[in-house]
Amino acid sequence: LQVIAGVEPRVAAAIGAELADQRESLKLIASENYASPAVLLAMGNWFSDKYAEGTIGRRFYAGCRNVDTVEALAAEHARELFGAPHAYVQPHSGIDANLVAFWAVLAHRIEAPALERAKARQVNDLSEQDWFELRRELGNQRMLGMSLDAGGHLTHGFRPNISGKMFDQRSYGTDPETGLLDYDAVRRTAQEFRPLILVAGYSAYPRLINFRIMREIADEVGATFMVDMAHFAGLVAGKVLTGDFDPVPHAHIVTTTTHKSLRGPRGGMVLCHEDLAEQVDRGCPMVLGGPLPHVMAAKAVALAEARQPEFADYAQRIVDNAQALAEGLNKRGATLVTGGTDNHLVLLDVSGYGLTGRQAEAALLDGGIVTNRNSVPQDPNGAWYTSGIRLGTPALTTRGLGVAEMDEVAALIDAVLRETKPGVTAQGKASKAQHVLDESVASRVAAQAADL
Ligand code: PLP
Repeated sequence: LQVIAGVEPRVAAAIGAELADQRESLKLIASENYASPAVLLAMGNWFSDKYAEGTIGRRFYAGCRNVDTVEALAAEHARELFGAPHAYVQPHSGIDANLVAFWAVLAHRIEAPALERAKARQVNDLSEQDWFELRRELGNQRMLGMSLDAGGHLTHGFRPNISGKMFDQRSYGTDPETGLLDYDAVRRTAQEFRPLILVAGYSAYPRLINFRIMREIADEVGATFMVDMAHFAGLVAGKVLTGDFDPVPHAHIVTTTTHKSLRGPRGGMVLCHEDLAEQVDRGCPMVLGGPLPHVMAAKAVALAEARQPEFADYAQRIVDNAQALAEGLNKRGATLVTGGTDNHLVLLDVSGYGLTGRQAEAALLDGGIVTNRNSVPQDPNGAWYTSGIRLGTPALTTRGLGVAEMDEVAALIDAVLRETKPGVTAQGKASKAQHVLDESVASRVAAQAADL
């Protein structure tokens, strides 16, 4: 920090303040975590100065041998960890990984037959007219994904995102009674809509998805089955999600972020079978510019960490903690979407406290508990105010908190929300959040601070 302070002290101060905030609060944002010092250090180094467009061994720049090494290592760890035939580790984020996957599927499903039909070698050899006609004839650009208020993600074909402009989108929701995914309803919609891509994956669904059934549905309608496991990749890596609940053996293509439950650097990744590998590897230049070698180095380190036996233990504790948190809230009379959780997140409907999600989020933040507001299914308050709070356990699990502390966390959340009247904040709870942390197993963040 002193080095940075010598150039721009305000940045150094903000970094120090961020460390303090992250140490002193209860971080319950389901998409956040604490990467290890090894991951952070692999990301902050001279690799960030290097350009390396292309793929391993086929770069458009000279001097890329060290980048080749780290990219190959990250890809190898990803293949081994997830049991995937092919891994592409260049995407800079989850949204980039999804864009790469969408274009790879489009290229595979439309471009390849178009070239064959026109006896052309490259898309550039086709006239504009031929290309558009072939595209119209060969490919519907329809995507079916989970609706936003059921927990789906913006990148799964929704209007404000580029995916909503690339695809005609339709969504499947959850059963209004149970809040659970209704596979028969997904099947009916798929049969009627006949999507090119069926997407499974979510940001705010607290239950598991049976990927075997989803693949069957995709096969019945001739769709490519894509899973976005951004949120639960850590649970797949830690072998908590296996069999029908592990997306990798069932999907044609899988995307993920690397920074959520997987606990790596901010970034994305695509896993696929060999038949899509060539199109996926064209992510740069199709969608991406130069890769970020420093982030690929950090991905390699994080994936190596995820292959250690301790990671499986961490992944199991994430779910144990989420279930303990849900139980703690349930026993205090809170309303949870689907009544509980099978994964790393809990969706708390705060309307019973007489609050909107926005009010609850602000009150909890005042109490030192960092969460995010989130829509609940059929949310009457819309996407800005919302009626829900999303709570995730990966970060607190990394810090060593266990099921006993989760009951205390649930008690704190319930107390803050009960005491909150719209317009009046719940000052003074921060010290209680700190107490839970102080009482927990020695904090990993404190160790990081010492290391840094
Ligand atoms: N996919 C899912 C399911 C997500 O939850 C997110 C992030 O919230 C993304 C993709 C996008 O990831 P990123 O923020 O890295 O672009």
